Amino acid sequence: MTQLVVSEVTKDYPTRDKPLSVLRGCSLELSAGQNAAILGPSGSGKSTLLYIIGTLDRPTGGRVTLDGTDPFALGEPELAKYRNRRLGFVFQDHHLLPQCSVLENVLVPTLADSPSKSDAADRAKQLLNRVGLGDRLDHRPAEISGGERQRVAIARALVHKPALLLADEPTGNLDRTTAAAIGDLLLEMQQHEGTMLLVVTHSLELASRFQRRFELDDGRLLQR
Ligand code: ADP
Ligand code: MG
Repeated sequence: MTQLVVSEVTKDYPTRDKPLSVLRGCSLELSAGQNAAILGPSGSGKSTLLYIIGTLDRPTGGRVTLDGTDPFALGEPELAKYRNRRLGFVFQDHHLLPQCSVLENVLVPTLADSPSKSDAADRAKQLLNRVGLGDRLDHRPAEISGGERQRVAIARALVHKPALLLADEPTGNLDRTTAAAIGDLLLEMQQHEGTMLLVVTHSLELASRFQRRFELDDGRLLQR
């Protein structure tokens, strides 16, 4: 069974005098089909923890495994493949390529793949239908709204059927109504795809919709 295990992760940032201990031993486990939110004030280390789980940063100590694989033990090409195939990312900013269409943006993570391009295009179109943008495939990011851009980002994150979907303040740039719709969509897509979902937010409203809640407090992760 797919499982994320984060055990006793620590992160120190070097500073001129003594190291800044941002994470002081964070542990959590997530199984296939589960979703969880990580709450905490600005500067509490939420992004740092999510980036470590997403292999965009390395922990100072502790361990992260996904289905028993320790990504930090992989060499660089395998790590890039792991990140691309096993994980999906949604950030506060959509990070869409402005010159590419909605469909092309969803296909970006598949560009390095060898097999049949039509399979990837079919998958991308299915996802765009499901996020409600099936009739906007040829539009550019500038031609759709902020909420719609996040819908594209969610479809792009799921194109490889990741085991784990990670989202850092995915509704942070949106108005309240749009934020609620994007929160619902993330959970609906997670259920439909059977992936694990870990979302970092400072919104209690968003976090209240998740099966499990954690709070980062003084470098430690507490169950809420
Ligand atoms: P959050 O996402 O909860 O707002 P972050 O994870 O971004 O918090 O940051 C947590 C703390 O780590 C902050 O005090 C921040 O200044 C510090 N920090 C983040 N990245 C670095 C870095 N590269 N070097 C030094 N300090 C950092
Ligand atoms: Mg942050």
